[in-house]
Amino acid sequence: MKAIVNAKILHEETILEGCTLFFDTQIVKITDDVTAQNCEVIDAKGAYVSSGFIDLHVHGSGGADVMDASPAALETISATLLQTGVTSFLATTMTMSNEAIDKALQNMQDHAKSVTGANILGVHLEGPFINVSRHGAQNKDYVQAPTMALIEPYMQEIKMITLAPEVEGAEAFVKHMMSSYPHVVFSVGHSDASYEECKEGFRWGMSHATHLFNAMTPYHHRSPGIVGAVFDSDVSCDVIADLVHTHPSVLELVYRMKKEKLILITDAMRAGCMKCGSYDLGGQHVEVQDGKAVLEDGTLAGSVLKMNEALSNMRQYTSMGLLEVVNAATKAPAQKLGIKKGELKVGYDADIVIFDENFSIITTIVMGEIKYAR
Ligand SMILES: [Zn+2]
Repeated sequence: MKAIVNAKILHEETILEGCTLFFDTQIVKITDDVTAQNCEVIDAKGAYVSSGFIDLHVHGSGGADVMDASPAALETISATLLQTGVTSFLATTMTMSNEAIDKALQNMQDHAKSVTGANILGVHLEGPFINVSRHGAQNKDYVQAPTMALIEPYMQEIKMITLAPEVEGAEAFVKHMMSSYPHVVFSVGHSDASYEECKEGFRWGMSHATHLFNAMTPYHHRSPGIVGAVFDSDVSCDVIADLVHTHPSVLELVYRMKKEKLILITDAMRAGCMKCGSYDLGGQHVEVQDGKAVLEDGTLAGSVLKMNEALSNMRQYTSMGLLEVVNAATKAPAQKLGIKKGELKVGYDADIVIFDENFSIITTIVMGEIKYAR
């Protein structure tokens, strides 16, 4: 067993001081017993300790991309994310050819469990079942109507699907999938749905919105669009808090509207945790400069945001408290996926991060093993 001492432990609604966190592969107990005998002791030196961060939207990092469809790419991403406090994530696909998507899904099925860094929880399928008019940085040549054939062999891996509810065939697809694979989260995104069409999607069981405000109908007071539908229903949504995709005042607005239904994602692409320069995303050329990743026509192409920076930005630019910010990257995404992670509760997976007051990551622990130390 291991024990973390001398920490500020973020636990439920409070920050505990003078307590010790005991864990093996799962959380064992939090007590005010500071002796921690017969344990490997980790001294947090007064830093914060929380559950590890969970990112529902990662295309790549460290020079690798999920669409590279190789075990080495998954390992690189998994290892790189540790330095950002991420202990688990959804490997996110892009709108590409059926062959490329099939290769990426097959690679995930065969190799996702063998990575040695952050856990891969499964696949987030972003496209190709989207609206061509809101494709963003997804290659519009490969946008297609929803079809089971492409993904059916991989339904154990797929945990989340971003699609446009207004496209032909979406209703039958979502309803069939919801009854056959109730574990899958359906998220509206890359969509031109009206307010009414989006609400209809929520009635079928769609329960989330992907990178709110980006690649979707905007808010207008006579035509409230997807943003309006998300604001007046109890679905959750996620934001890319890099201050590029979303203005700080809009981050505050989303927080006020959605509270604990707000989830932080990075949408990180290959250049995550890398230097500025030329990269690619879904077969398209991307230039990364000044914290922005853009296609040749200026379209934002994923992000180079680190999850710990997302938390820092929310803390700095919104009125969210520390516990709320951390919950948006831990408890909220875990509950969305229905997994026993995201909280330092007895019996939950021992995914733990130690960070300082600037959200700089000191130690990252995955399933009880120290995987990263600054
Ligand atoms: Zn994305």
